[in-house]
Amino acid sequence: MMKKTLMIAILALALWSCGGKIEADLIIHNATVYTVDDAFSTATAFAVKDGKFIGVGSDEEILAGFESKETINLEGAPVYPGLIDGHAHFYRYGLGLKNADLVGTKSFEEIVEILKAHRAKYPDEEWILGGGWDQNDWEIKEFPTKDKLDEAFPNTPVLISRVDGHAALANSAALGESEIFSKAKEVNGGKIYFDKNGNATGLLVDNAIDLIAKFIPAQTKADQVEALLMAQQNCFEVGLTSVVDAGLEVETIELIDSLNKTGDLKMRLYVMAAPTEENIDYFKKKGKIKTDHLNVRSFKVYGDGALGSRGASLLTDYSDDPGNDGFLLQEAAYYDQLAKTFYDMGFQMNTHCIGDNSNHVVLDIYSKYLPEDNDLRWKIEHAQVVSRDDIDKFGKYNVVPSVQPTHATSDMYWAADRLGEERVKTAYAFKDLLDQNGYIALGSDFPVEDINPMYGFHAATARQDAKNWPEGGWQPENKLSREEALKGMTIWAAYSNFEEKEKGSIEKGKFADFIIAEKDMMKAPESELRNLKVKATYLDGKKVY
Ligand SMILES: [Zn+2]
Repeated sequence: MMKKTLMIAILALALWSCGGKIEADLIIHNATVYTVDDAFSTATAFAVKDGKFIGVGSDEEILAGFESKETINLEGAPVYPGLIDGHAHFYRYGLGLKNADLVGTKSFEEIVEILKAHRAKYPDEEWILGGGWDQNDWEIKEFPTKDKLDEAFPNTPVLISRVDGHAALANSAALGESEIFSKAKEVNGGKIYFDKNGNATGLLVDNAIDLIAKFIPAQTKADQVEALLMAQQNCFEVGLTSVVDAGLEVETIELIDSLNKTGDLKMRLYVMAAPTEENIDYFKKKGKIKTDHLNVRSFKVYGDGALGSRGASLLTDYSDDPGNDGFLLQEAAYYDQLAKTFYDMGFQMNTHCIGDNSNHVVLDIYSKYLPEDNDLRWKIEHAQVVSRDDIDKFGKYNVVPSVQPTHATSDMYWAADRLGEERVKTAYAFKDLLDQNGYIALGSDFPVEDINPMYGFHAATARQDAKNWPEGGWQPENKLSREEALKGMTIWAAYSNFEEKEKGSIEKGKFADFIIAEKDMMKAPESELRNLKVKATYLDGKKVY
């Protein structure tokens, strides 16, 4: 009897050690794993197989249940789900990596110096392109004119855009290509600036930029591929494994799909298509696109411009510019027609709304088509200034607020000038927006802001700039907690894209996208958050950085 029991025990042990463990491709243990599951629980280990998480739990559970040739002891290092940028311009950012970077310039003289150096580096480009200037950072906070550009570049076309992309400065060589300025002085949804003699100053706002930008020579296919791959690499380095690209043409979407198929482009992209007639027809015929790396089921629409260039559409005048309340980029009927089209197609409508009038008009149009308690997850991109009379429409119609915390900390120096002390309280109100539905999607809008998601995490939770100003945070009542901010960059961003079942948390069955950080963003002092570094990024269970 004794013998038989022993035999069974030995047999069971043998079975357990050779056949009882599940084969995995990778085991991570001795880590601090923020799973971002419903309970926001932490684990210490997980196993990955075929690009998915197959087990998450304690070291004991995972090491007893799984075996793998690659087992990594992280010695306590923090692990998070791969980060998601809920609103960015991935492709445009990639293209811009070869343009002059004017972010943070302190004067127009500095811009000219950077452009000269850029020209020396790329002497054969037909146009000199750059972006990122912000006149609010200069001593003279007025819009620039083309004079100094003409002096430095009398024969080469130059077009340099403001940090928000809603204004740009062209030199005479660039303007000369268009001949528009002698004919049309009014631009629908845009503005051309003229001096007192009636000559164009070179400054163009919103739709007026397109009058010049259409003359920029097209990118070659090789340029486009290079742009996408450079963007991908930079994103992996900061821990992003999914990015929402807000507004692409069908040709670019097809290029992305082909690069996914060859395995060159691994970044998961949720792409909003630009709402052109051709693109709408294309998706009417083709329907939604959904692969493991590409998801297209939405359109990005522009409601208005930006607050910095006073192109945002407000309910009442700008506090620092009486008589000006900004403008919608199209008539309300245009947005209504698109809403009907997208509703009928079963596509998500995502509209850029900055000013409180733009938010008001678009929320009202959404409410015409969206039933209460729908699960269509239409988004308002930015939701930057939302009147107290409109904010509950987010909850009532399950509209997703898709916001960019770094916009708050970039604009906080002058937002009250534009909006006044009262109205500014309804701006960048992330906590108030979160309270409507219990979720919020966070993004950066790169290249308008930096691609680093830790800047967004810091801005959302501390509401301070890089110098930790102001003390206590700007409009601190709208701070998000660290848990809320991490959810906004993971599971809630995934939800806003109908992807919460496949990504956004470290849970069994989901894509094995995760990052290993040097320090714990949930515990590090506020002043260190911006500088937290990602040690490694994994996508599909494979190390990509
Ligand atoms: Zn954007």
